[in-house]
Amino acid sequence: MRIVLVGAPGAGKGTQAKKLVEAHGVPQVSTGDLLRAAVRDGTPLGLAAKATMDAGKLVDDATVLGIIRERLAQPDAANGFILDGYPRNTAQADALDVVLAEIGQPLEGVILMDVDRDLLFKRLTGRRSCKQCGRIFNIYFSPPGTPPACVPCGDAPELEHRKDDQEAVIGPRLDTYEKQTAPLVEYYSKRGLLEKVDADGEIDDVYARLEAAIERARSRKA
Ligand code: AMP
Repeated sequence: MRIVLVGAPGAGKGTQAKKLVEAHGVPQVSTGDLLRAAVRDGTPLGLAAKATMDAGKLVDDATVLGIIRERLAQPDAANGFILDGYPRNTAQADALDVVLAEIGQPLEGVILMDVDRDLLFKRLTGRRSCKQCGRIFNIYFSPPGTPPACVPCGDAPELEHRKDDQEAVIGPRLDTYEKQTAPLVEYYSKRGLLEKVDADGEIDDVYARLEAAIERARSRKA
């Protein structure tokens, strides 16, 4: 499976990517996660990217391309990947094509996860993650204690609230998406790669729609 998940912040790309990983055994490649790990580890790249990320803006294309190139060269990506949060603009999409041609792994489909802006706001302001295991909760929709229990962290795990999920940064992040990332819809649509999924609803329902959309995209390519 070689797909890209496109969607605004809060559309559920990360949550659904994790389910796809379990079902298909290919890695989720999230530039946001890789950048956050670099920030946590205090690498030079992380230190350089931190302020931009905290402001909800895009890290420069060359930096993110370096990260993605290195990640896709890892052995676990040899049989495919689920890209989550990359590409984020058309220049990154062009660069991705070059990298994928180099490794002989062209895209099979690009899935747009569509959610309206009001719901995105609530998903983002309510999003928290378990400091220990990284599981994502939402204080409005799925607070800690919602089954399945967070093992081994228990029913009251220590939670982290991402800096860029604070209310003041969410508006700029959604604006960045509209201006820079939304044009990818037309970009991939023209190439016959795009499938759209209604990403509002229960996680398992959205997942079923997503699997169906991936199947449509892959059978069109076959
Ligand atoms: P995410 O977790 O995907 O929302 O990403 C968090 C932050 O990481 C974004 O707001 C950007 O600052 C940065 N980031 C992640 N992916 C990219 C990308 N493809 N291009 C530029 N910046 C990115």
